[in-house]
Amino acid sequence: MKLTDILNNGKLSLSFEVFPPKTDTGFNSVKTATEEIARLNPSFMSVTYGAGGGTSQYTLDIAKHIKEQYNVPMVAHLTCVSSTRETVAERIEAMKKAGIQNVLALRGDLTPELENGDRSKWAYRHAVDLIHDIKDSGADFCIGGACYPEIHPESNNQNEDIKYLKEKVDAGCSFLTTQMFFDNNLLYNFLYKIREAGITVPVIPGIMPITNANQVERAMKLSGSFMPQRFKSLVDKFGYSPEAMKQAGIAYATDQIIDLFANGITNVHVYSMNKPDIAAKIQSNISDILG
Ligand code: FAD
Repeated sequence: MKLTDILNNGKLSLSFEVFPPKTDTGFNSVKTATEEIARLNPSFMSVTYGAGGGTSQYTLDIAKHIKEQYNVPMVAHLTCVSSTRETVAERIEAMKKAGIQNVLALRGDLTPELENGDRSKWAYRHAVDLIHDIKDSGADFCIGGACYPEIHPESNNQNEDIKYLKEKVDAGCSFLTTQMFFDNNLLYNFLYKIREAGITVPVIPGIMPITNANQVERAMKLSGSFMPQRFKSLVDKFGYSPEAMKQAGIAYATDQIIDLFANGITNVHVYSMNKPDIAAKIQSNISDILG
């Protein structure tokens, strides 16, 4: 099923993100975790693509397995920054063969080697180049792109970021998924600005439940997200106890999700990080809201 059919059906729903294993040995535990998440019957699941593309086959293996065994619509992420045009063409072919209908087209994170390497040799500089190639391949994918309510860390300003976002949408994105954020007002302001800029495709807010004090620094560094005082206080107070922090982090994420639904959002994507217990708890917290 194409994601646009889900996003436009007007029903409130949750989706979950999982990530592939880094090695063969980790495959079975990731498979088990993703199966448990699939049994929650989310509106869809997405599988990330390892930075640098090293785990690309696992992304597809997990997506294909969950789709076939659990009938959950899947989104496979695909990055391009370290790839050749030939590799990307192969990945697109493999996705088609696996029956994947939805792809999140990304530039990819810059690893230190990429960051310091010779950029003149890159076949792809931005996600928009990948979106063009997916479209040109003739494959009938529903393509999505990433967006940043608090601007992408490499962007000079929000107008520039939104200008390039519009280019991605015009190139063929049918939906956008946001970077994590911890203050919903940032999302509402962003939505207002992109709608004003003529971007009309569905935007799926991405919510990261922070359930471990050690996650905080890494998450902030990766996303550049603003940490509201309300959340800081919670980490200060409960960060010492893994159990208390988990409960508080799930409650905070639940609160964000309820507010998003109350303000007209219909699908929220949870960065569930291969943690079925966290996905299940959030889903049960809003079971009557989801109906
Ligand atoms: P782009 O859209 O190319 O944007 C990157 C920067 O370039 C921005 O500052 C943008 O304003 C600017 N820009 C865009 N187009 C142009 C242009 N034509 N000319 C000049 N500047 C331009 N990373 C992974 O490795 N694997 C994943 O699975 C993965 N999943 C993600 C899922 C989501 C929802 C999000 C939000 C991020 C994900 N990432 C993933 C991280 C992502 O790859 C990084 O954030 C990366 O730095 C940017 O990717 P992008 O697709 O947004 O890039």
